[in-house]
Amino acid sequence: MANDTESAISALLAWFAQHQRRLPWRDNPTPYAVLVSELMLQQTRVDTVIDYFQRWLARWPTVADLAAASQADVLAMWTGLGYYNRARNLHAAAQAVMARHAGVLPADDAALRALPGLGPYTVGAVRSIAFGQPAALVDGNVARVLARWTAFAGDPSQPKGRDHIWRVAEDWLQQPVARAQPGAWNQALMELGATVCTPRAPDCLLCPVATHCQARAQGLTQAIPPVRQKATAQLVRAAYAVIVGTPLQGPGVADSAPRVLLARRPEDVRWAGLWEPPGVEGADCLDVLNARLRAAGLTPEPPLGPIVHILTHRRYEVLAVPVHCALETLPDLAAFGYPALRVQALPDALGKESGLSRLAQKLLELVV
Ligand code: SF4
Repeated sequence: MANDTESAISALLAWFAQHQRRLPWRDNPTPYAVLVSELMLQQTRVDTVIDYFQRWLARWPTVADLAAASQADVLAMWTGLGYYNRARNLHAAAQAVMARHAGVLPADDAALRALPGLGPYTVGAVRSIAFGQPAALVDGNVARVLARWTAFAGDPSQPKGRDHIWRVAEDWLQQPVARAQPGAWNQALMELGATVCTPRAPDCLLCPVATHCQARAQGLTQAIPPVRQKATAQLVRAAYAVIVGTPLQGPGVADSAPRVLLARRPEDVRWAGLWEPPGVEGADCLDVLNARLRAAGLTPEPPLGPIVHILTHRRYEVLAVPVHCALETLPDLAAFGYPALRVQALPDALGKESGLSRLAQKLLELVV
């Protein structure tokens, strides 16, 4: 069995050497580049991440550069990637590396785990890919590949199943051929899961380990891993005021773009610190929003939408209420409870580094 496993590992490594996708973080896998790419890739498609990764490294090429950035700039750079806690953790991790490790990411397991936002998967990625250490990792792709390969009947998404798959990953990494190149081995497992051993339609005819795969031998590739029942998403109704001002006028004023009023979300809520049109959540959101706008001397127009915006556990159904006004001074929107307001040119608000959530940008696109 050991020899069979070893020859299968060799086959997968050879396949990875030949077929791996060319990705920017693979060109120069420094510890910092691996950390940035791995946090960006969590819950996000590779195609989406490439542009963000390249802009990020161009702006903050080192841990020290990132640590010195403002949180507002970090969130702005993350605009549209979602799951913004990843950006906050990456920023906090860079500051911790400056404070505790003189700006050098440690290779040590305990020191990496002590950094904000680094779980076992990310630590395994940094240690194996950047430092060449024999550290296992399991993400969704690896769990699926190993579960099929070994015909594991349990559910890798549940604690018992997850522990089992981690043990398999750690055992196989002890095989000399995998241990000799742990970064390539871990990436080969992930690459196979991302491109061949996909969730619904594994392409077993192209698979380099097909002759070793227990699920294939037993006709269980569709049954492993078991399909998870999706939890019902919580419905959130909300209404937002897209307050659009006429272009600035007057001698010496060059800006001819419409402007939009934005509010910064408080620190203790979802999408903390991001900017959005002022809004209200709840069953009576439209009435409350319109009343607050009128109290501020603004005239709400009939709502547009709804926009449907899906997150992992929430389904947003959102109305956009247009308001057109001169916007020469900030209206009194204290009733909304935002810590800050700003007026921004519309093209900047819709830009890649605006610091608006994707939902906020969808609202602007609907109205203007
Ligand atoms: S043979 Fe099929 S099910 Fe098995 S690892 Fe390869 S792609 Fe996945």
